[in-house]
Amino acid sequence: MSTPVRVAVTGAAGQIGYALVFRIASGQMFGPDTPVHLQLLEITPALDALQGVAMELEDGAFPLLAGMTLTDDAAEAFDGTNVACLVGAKPRGPGMERADLLKDNGAIFTGQGRALADNAADDLKVAVVGNPANTNALIAAANAEGVPTERFSAMVRLDENRAKSQLANKAGVSVAEVTNLAVWGNHSPTMVPDFDNARIGGQPLTDVIEDRGWLEGEFLSTVQQRGKAIIDARGASSAASAANALIDHVANWCGGKPTPEGDWVSMAVPSDGSYGVPEGLICGFPVTTDGAGAYRIVEGLELSGFTQAKLGSTVAELEEERDAVSDML
Ligand code: NDP
Repeated sequence: MSTPVRVAVTGAAGQIGYALVFRIASGQMFGPDTPVHLQLLEITPALDALQGVAMELEDGAFPLLAGMTLTDDAAEAFDGTNVACLVGAKPRGPGMERADLLKDNGAIFTGQGRALADNAADDLKVAVVGNPANTNALIAAANAEGVPTERFSAMVRLDENRAKSQLANKAGVSVAEVTNLAVWGNHSPTMVPDFDNARIGGQPLTDVIEDRGWLEGEFLSTVQQRGKAIIDARGASSAASAANALIDHVANWCGGKPTPEGDWVSMAVPSDGSYGVPEGLICGFPVTTDGAGAYRIVEGLELSGFTQAKLGSTVAELEEERDAVSDML
């Protein structure tokens, strides 16, 4: 057996955390041969709940679970961390403005960025789920002195997975047939699923689904509103599907599961200026990954006028968020 991967999960006793940690312990993030040490961070009032999660993890008798750390101290949670899943964040309260949410969460992610820089392993990689995820990742990266910025990412994979499912249903094919589906931009209702460059069974998606009105209308709004639809149906926000998307995100990036030849996946990563996205913004892009920690933004895709205009709006939102937290960068 290899050395355990040290995986930090913040907000580990929350809804997404609860759906995530068992899957990491069972080998779904890093494969069936890689042991893991879970470093679980919670706020002090949630430590009892976290203890309960840890008891259940023990009761799972997972052969790959090499150890656990439970703590409310970020320095301890990030000690020697190879992969940090930053899930914990403050939810938007009643009457709270988006700017307040940005500031409150910004304070969490400045501290976590510093704690990661001071304590994590040299090969650290960070995936942010807690919202506003892209901007939280930007703040953490800016405060993690000495850690290369490209090690920070935010999750747009749930949007990609949601979009793929809707497209597969419409075309009457299995979801595995839908490939090359990038989600551009912010993890917010402004995100853009790029159906023009997507494929179904190797064919251009728009040759298989010719109803452009549906693609630009109902499809887009279904993906945008999916989170709300789940809250309405379940009485609680989506959690298992968010955890599942994070497993996909990390497994492709550094869990030994490279993107298949010819395909790509969506990750929000620091822009290198590609496609006119201002350098440094953490923006959803199509990427290829090697499964061992490297990724590349896919170059040279042609965006339709529709996608280009939507990309402009989502990038404008990311710039507004960045400007609202400029004192933390
Ligand atoms: P969840 O586990 O449901 O959500 C955690 C974060 O993920 C939220 O910011 C949420 O955003 C975001 N998120 C991203 N995608 C999704 C999605 N598809 N569905 C739902 N959420 C999504 O929240 P809980 O309140 O259950 O748990 C949060 C935990 O974090 C708590 O246990 C709390 O104690 C902890 N916490 C830890 C901190 C720390 O470690 N320092 C700091 C703050 C909180 P959105 O709110 O927009 O849904």
